[in-house]
Amino acid sequence: MKVDVAIPRTKIDMFTYDCDDDVHVGDLVLVPLRNKTTHGVVVNLNSKRPISKLKKIIRIVHDRFIPESLIALYQWIADYYLATMGEVLRLALPSKILKDPDMDVPPAQPVVTAQPPTPTLPQTAAIQEIIANLDAHRFKTYLLYGITGSGKTEVYLRAADHVITQGGRVLILVPEISLTPLLYSRFKERFGDETITIHSGLTQKQRRIAWYAIHQGKYKVIIGPRSAVFVPIPDLKMIVVDEEHDTSYKEHERMPHYNARDSAVMRGKLENLTVVLGSATPQIESYHNAQIGKYALLTLEERIEKRSLPQITMIDLRSENKRFISPALETKLQHTLAQGEQAIIFLNRRGFAPHLICPKCGYVVRCKFCGLPMVYHKPNHGEGATLSCHICSHKTKKISICPHCHRGTLLYRGAGTQRIEEMVNRIVADLQDKEKTKDISDCVLRLDRDIARKRGQAEEIFEKFERGDARILLGTQLVTKGFDFPDVTLVGIVNADVIINLPDFRSSERTFQMLTQVAGRSGRGAKKGIVLMQTFHPEQYAILFSQLQDYRKFYEHEIRTRKELDFPPFARLVLVRVKGQNADRIAREAEKIAQRLKRIKEIAVYGPNRSFYYKVRKDYRVFILVKMQKNFNHARLRFLTELKPSGCTIDVDVDPMDVF
Ligand SMILES: [Zn+2]
Ligand SMILES: [Zn+2]
Repeated sequence: MKVDVAIPRTKIDMFTYDCDDDVHVGDLVLVPLRNKTTHGVVVNLNSKRPISKLKKIIRIVHDRFIPESLIALYQWIADYYLATMGEVLRLALPSKILKDPDMDVPPAQPVVTAQPPTPTLPQTAAIQEIIANLDAHRFKTYLLYGITGSGKTEVYLRAADHVITQGGRVLILVPEISLTPLLYSRFKERFGDETITIHSGLTQKQRRIAWYAIHQGKYKVIIGPRSAVFVPIPDLKMIVVDEEHDTSYKEHERMPHYNARDSAVMRGKLENLTVVLGSATPQIESYHNAQIGKYALLTLEERIEKRSLPQITMIDLRSENKRFISPALETKLQHTLAQGEQAIIFLNRRGFAPHLICPKCGYVVRCKFCGLPMVYHKPNHGEGATLSCHICSHKTKKISICPHCHRGTLLYRGAGTQRIEEMVNRIVADLQDKEKTKDISDCVLRLDRDIARKRGQAEEIFEKFERGDARILLGTQLVTKGFDFPDVTLVGIVNADVIINLPDFRSSERTFQMLTQVAGRSGRGAKKGIVLMQTFHPEQYAILFSQLQDYRKFYEHEIRTRKELDFPPFARLVLVRVKGQNADRIAREAEKIAQRLKRIKEIAVYGPNRSFYYKVRKDYRVFILVKMQKNFNHARLRFLTELKPSGCTIDVDVDPMDVF
């Protein structure tokens, strides 16, 4: 028999081999490839590919290693995202997984667990709907739209409990590794050692052990970031995608640029599962799917225990003399501390100052590779003061005198988290002088990627804040995600505008999501919360609707705009990025590609245009945006992935999250 075998980390879709008849789809096999032997997975029997002089499969290493339905999912990802099976298998079977397969893992012990809280009425209604579908054993996708603090996790937990009682298993996807421990502890509380996490933060050995344990059915609840969508799980009945709007579900770095949420829905279809997508700020496409009946909508529109949403006040920075922390925010911060409560301060910008500028000649220090302003970082955890390019990570020593005119002393412009941290510390010190309160120095924690780089550091900070050992948590997007700190009564948003100026059709949506999520951290306990939102654009609708905390109004406004412009969910986008070291050559090649695309008359082709970050390191970057109706078979664009112009790299992103 002739069979097709996909081999991880190859650019080729599949290889064809000869074999005896006892081979199945999904078998892990050892095959000769060039002068070596390697592992592969059987993806098709009775291959019709016209290839002569076939080599023979050496042996079957593991019978039915990947279930057929998952092979179908991998094939769908390869087809939809215009990638090869070899590339998909690279993600699905990370390196070293195939070394030493069939590891034996000791069974987990179920433990007696915490008493669950009584669900609210809306929670009960949602749980019942999901359970009814689980009992019917049919594929269905739910969008669980629940405002911040409405208890979405309890819905997941109850539904998971039902699945486990019936002997099934549950997969929970979380947007980021740093959020895994949080949800893990909630599930662990309820289900004990039947819960496991799998993610790239584990060592290769730990990950391999976890993978095989899950594959053998040793655990009931599997929690992990986007790559967990590939893991084979026997008797899987339900997939939950928590914070489904989060852009981390999209693979940004390399092809295939898959979206784990959409892949989870497809897996649900192929394996006949219940899929639950949860969010307080659903992606526009998802809410639209719920409107047109593709998903079933479940809503939780009240916070648990009748707690109210925080009161949000806007502070117009145009009248604040360019102060980074307005007097109103300063006063509220001191008040919060004096009351013994906690605060979160949010700013989506790392470092001390985003620009260094010469007051004499106007020179701005820029990255020698990318031409973008270098960000000044103060000494940090053993690293000296540096200037750092946030696009390519190029670093240099800090300089004080202008290298251009040699006369001016460089000044800091703007503020990042380090600078705000200094200001907040000063506010704390002032309060202490004024009120002679007990020592509250050392009460500010900063969390951004500079700090979270070290493994376990983010978790340590969250734990410290949760224990109340610190009173102010200051940070970037990392602090906006689904955390639940009941003593936080103040959220201060230093600058609501950071994303709004990006040239992207999603910038309003992203702004609304970010602001609503961070505001939702306030007032989750017994005390009412407030939010102060500083902005230069109080009239912008994303900012306005986030102040009103009205997702539906925002959705209605946004969906009208999308319709007018014929953007997703009304059309499909494919982004073609071309990069290379020679600016003229990539411009020429991109133009050729655009011309070829323009010959397809059913699609609209925009560009080539320079990327927002045109030069990164040594590469110049341009992009072509292709827009098509959803019924257009975009497999016709596969030729793009097969082009190999010299000196250029071509990257094809189906359903891109960023379009600049
Ligand atoms: Zn750079
Ligand atoms: Zn100068």
